[in-house]
Amino acid sequence: MAPSSPVFRFAPSPNGRLHLGHAYSALLNERLAKRCHGRLLLRIEDIDLTRCRPEFEQGIRDDLAWLGISFAPNPRRQSEHFEEYRRALDRLDAMGLVYPCFCSRQEVKAAVRRREAGTGVPWPHDPDGAPLYPRTCRGSSDDAVRRRREAGDAHVLRLAMDRALARTAGEPLAYRLFDESGAEREVAVEPARWGDVVLARRDVPTSYHLSVVVDDAVQGVSHVVRGRDLEAATDIHVLLQRLLGLLTPRYHFHPLLSDESGQKLAKSRSSRSLADLRAQGATPEAVRRQLGFT
Ligand code: GLU
Repeated sequence: MAPSSPVFRFAPSPNGRLHLGHAYSALLNERLAKRCHGRLLLRIEDIDLTRCRPEFEQGIRDDLAWLGISFAPNPRRQSEHFEEYRRALDRLDAMGLVYPCFCSRQEVKAAVRRREAGTGVPWPHDPDGAPLYPRTCRGSSDDAVRRRREAGDAHVLRLAMDRALARTAGEPLAYRLFDESGAEREVAVEPARWGDVVLARRDVPTSYHLSVVVDDAVQGVSHVVRGRDLEAATDIHVLLQRLLGLLTPRYHFHPLLSDESGQKLAKSRSSRSLADLRAQGATPEAVRRQLGFT
């Protein structure tokens, strides 16, 4: 069989307008895909039903069209695939790796504070700086869980990390990291540093980690090009790929852009959007040039 051609993807969340950092990521995907005659897909990551809005999705499409980046037709929209994510969750559940957790963020924080006060030892945090989940709900009896579920108590679903790792024992977990020249090396992952991560949020039967893994596999993505802020989370993705029997793509993590004051560009900080730049008279050529894509 002829080897299939590489597949890249740009996967924005429509919870705001794109800024220069997104443009950089999209343009780098375009450049690397072109270089190896690959396809470039657009994926709309809109599982957050409260923050994502159709007008932002339209804005993203307008910005990308304005930049002159073309994508394969029919972008995948995550909110249309909740059933697929649920099936992946069910498979992990059937392996005994999923459990419901009724703790709020405040309760997790309070439990961690109590443990720190009791032991005098700082509680470990995940690579994003959140305290590892102290596994409070893993101690609940089946009866207690059933009662709370029947009462309709809000809960997330978590991965029992130790059990998940036990299932993969024996075979090292790793991915291939590639740089812009195409050189590759193997990177071993360490998912344990994330603890019992959330696989399904309160409101939807999935999380960023689960949907990104399912989608990359369903869409045949062979090369993931995304920001360094997602480098550590790739450990979780590689673990889920192994558990679900999915191929692990190759990964490249690009630096995040900063503004004049050295702050990383972020929607949450209302960094200047491409739409603003356009309104101020910027041209797509100028933006490409500014970002090093001439
Ligand atoms: N949707 C994520 C974001 O906008 C990107 C996810 C990914 O590339 O894996 O930051």
